[in-house]
Amino acid sequence: MALPKFAYFEGKIVPYAEAKIGVMTHALNYGTAAFGGVRGYWNAEEEQLYIFRPYDHFKRLLRSARLLCMEFDHTPESLTEIVKELLRAENAREDMYVRPLIYKADEMIGVKCHDMTDEITIFAVPFGRYVSNDTNAHVTISGWRRIDDNTIPARGKISGAYVNSALIKTDALRAGFDEALVLNDDGHISEGSAENIFMVRDGVLITPPVYGNILEGITRRTVIQLAKEELGLEVVERPIDRTEVYICDELFLTGTAAQVTAVTHVDHRPIGNGEMGPVAARLREIYNDVVRGKIAKYREWNVPVYD
Ligand code: PMP
Repeated sequence: MALPKFAYFEGKIVPYAEAKIGVMTHALNYGTAAFGGVRGYWNAEEEQLYIFRPYDHFKRLLRSARLLCMEFDHTPESLTEIVKELLRAENAREDMYVRPLIYKADEMIGVKCHDMTDEITIFAVPFGRYVSNDTNAHVTISGWRRIDDNTIPARGKISGAYVNSALIKTDALRAGFDEALVLNDDGHISEGSAENIFMVRDGVLITPPVYGNILEGITRRTVIQLAKEELGLEVVERPIDRTEVYICDELFLTGTAAQVTAVTHVDHRPIGNGEMGPVAARLREIYNDVVRGKIAKYREWNVPVYD
C-alpha cells in the first residue's frame, strides 16, 4: 500500500515521515487507542472529493475517547476541517480512506487509562474495495467469539479490541473464505470482523441491535435509512440466531470499507439461490450514488473537500 504524503500529527500537518512515535508509547504496548475509518469519494463529473458523513464518524470517535478517559478540545467540525486540509495537501483526486487515530501518547510502563497524554493523528490513503468478492462473498461462522461489552466495548472501536477481529479474519481467509460472522457468547450473531450484518427474511430487513456487541456502524445507520425511505422496507433490530442466516433470503455486510457486500454462501450453504439478491443489489446502487453526492436528498452527508 502506498504511504501517505502527509499526516496530521501533534497538532499540525507534517510530512508523513515525521509522524513517528517511540516504541515505549503506551498505545503501542497496551492497545490504548481508538480509531475511525472515513471514506472520501471522488465525483468525476463535479471534480469534487466528498467526505461521507465525517461529523457522524467524529462524533463516534469522540465517544470512543470518553470510553478511554481521553480529553480533547476537538469537535466533529474541527476534526472535519483538519481532514479537508489533509486531503487538499494530498491533492487527493480519487477515492480515499481517512484514518483518524486517538492514542495514549505517554512513554511509560503501567496499565491505566486516566491522567495521561492523549494525542490524535490522521492520515489518508487511496483506497478501493476492501472485500474483493463484494457481490459474491463466501463467509464462515468464526470459532472465535465476539468481545463482550463488559470485556472491551465493541461500540468503542478500540485498537486493542481489533486483535479479536484480526484472529477472526485470518482464520477465515486461511480457510478459504472471504469473511466470517462472529457469535456472541450467548450464541447470537454479532457482526463480521469489521462489518455489520443484515439479513432479509420474508421481505423484512433484520440486523442485530446496538446492545449486541456490535460497532454502531455509520454505514449500518445509512443503510437502515435508505432501506426504509428508498425501498419502503420494514427494518427490525433484534438478535439473529446462527441458523437463521442459513435459511434467510439474503445476507449482506455493511461498513465504510466493505460498503454493501453481498454474502451468497455461509459455510458452503447457498443463501437464497446462491447469488446476490435484489435488496442487496439495489442498496449497493443507491449507496454508491449517495456517497458520491449524486442524490440531492442526502447531500448533507457529503462534505466537499475543494471549494
Ligand atoms: N463493525 C466493525 C467491528 C468494524 O470495524 C466496522 C468498520 N468500521 C463496522 C462494523 C462498520 O462500521 P462503519 O459502517 O461505521 O464503518
